[in-house]
Amino acid sequence: MSFKSLNLSEAILHAVNKKGYTTPSPIQEKAIPLILERRDVLASAQTGTGKTAGFTLPLLQILSEGKQWKNRPIRSLVLTPTRELAAQVAESVKTYGEFLDLRSTVIYGGVNQNPQVRAIRNGVDILIATPGRLLDLNNQRLLSLAKIEILILDEADRMLDMGFLKDIKKIISLMPLNRQNLMFSATFSKQIKELANGILHNQVLVEATPENTTAELVSQKAYRIDKKRKPEFVIKLIAEGDWKQVLIFTRTKHGANRLSEKLSKNNISSSAIHGNKSQNSRTKALEGFKKGTVRVLVATDIAARGLDIPLLPHVINFDLPQVPEDYVHRIGRTGRAGVSGEAISLIAADELILLKDIEKLLGQTMRNEIVEGFEPIDKPEAIDKTPKRNNFRKHKPKGGKGSYNKGRK
Ligand code: AMP
Repeated sequence: MSFKSLNLSEAILHAVNKKGYTTPSPIQEKAIPLILERRDVLASAQTGTGKTAGFTLPLLQILSEGKQWKNRPIRSLVLTPTRELAAQVAESVKTYGEFLDLRSTVIYGGVNQNPQVRAIRNGVDILIATPGRLLDLNNQRLLSLAKIEILILDEADRMLDMGFLKDIKKIISLMPLNRQNLMFSATFSKQIKELANGILHNQVLVEATPENTTAELVSQKAYRIDKKRKPEFVIKLIAEGDWKQVLIFTRTKHGANRLSEKLSKNNISSSAIHGNKSQNSRTKALEGFKKGTVRVLVATDIAARGLDIPLLPHVINFDLPQVPEDYVHRIGRTGRAGVSGEAISLIAADELILLKDIEKLLGQTMRNEIVEGFEPIDKPEAIDKTPKRNNFRKHKPKGGKGSYNKGRK
């Protein structure tokens, strides 16, 4: 299948061509025609599947064909959980819309609001936003969502994890009922289905990768190891393998900092990226990582979400995630676009219970090894004495099955 057969306009095809894409990815092939038919779509797609173009291309097409307003009210809103993802989506909108007469801007917190307000005042057709800053500007009456025709929730599962449910409901209440809704999520939990049922109207379900599966091209390996010696082992892996670009996940911000400092001290250039870092330093770390001046990026799950790092060869789970679905997100960073990748998990005795949860989710057991000299010191039986994993994702969203504004015209 070609992009041409998706009935996209010449201006959009030109931009896609310029970007070097030749064939649509599976999610693009499935979602684009449905979105162009103006259906509400619930799509299961992780970062790396081409989901951004999957909604951006048809969005641009619809808006460029629709009624053009002189003062350019915001006609489409893309909501994302993180600033990084918002910035990336905004970049895609600009790239694919280069040859169209449409304006877009991005707003998120942590930076001065004035340039964002100015851009909105000048008129934008597409607004990309994180929920907090959007509501903030709305409360100050600096923007209006009264003319929204298309709403896109990107990485909806992460927005729920980050506690944005209430904000999402509030934002939706500010929009006209008669609009098209698109929702993208890497996982389809019960909460996500409830959210979708509350927002989407007569939706079509589109799946790019089956739920709970990991990319085929990722080799997954686990090492059982002494917790205290994990940093040393990471240094050994990177040095011996002469790895040039490694993404490492830690459970906490503090852990990310500590590991990053230790790596730097051992002459492995490294940056930590997490919620306590300023936007500026996060952007700088990511740029350095992409350029190759930063060899290791140490990230927490939330900070890493939505990072656009294509063709990543190595991912290390320094700590196992508390929530098994995060494992799927994490290793989705490698083995992309037909290039194989490796995901390595370091498992201390008290993490065996988390490993079991992950294996259950994946429906497969993971090959695990003990490395001579790094043997775990605690016996596996000790796991019963460790605190139970937290269940922060297990809570039901308040408002339950409620419909936010289902009754579209
Ligand atoms: P996403 O899943 O939207 O984060 O996209 C992942 C990566 O795939 C990005 O670097 C995109 O530029 C790239 N990409 C998106 N669509 C295509 C396509 N049809 N062909 C090749 N690369 C693509």
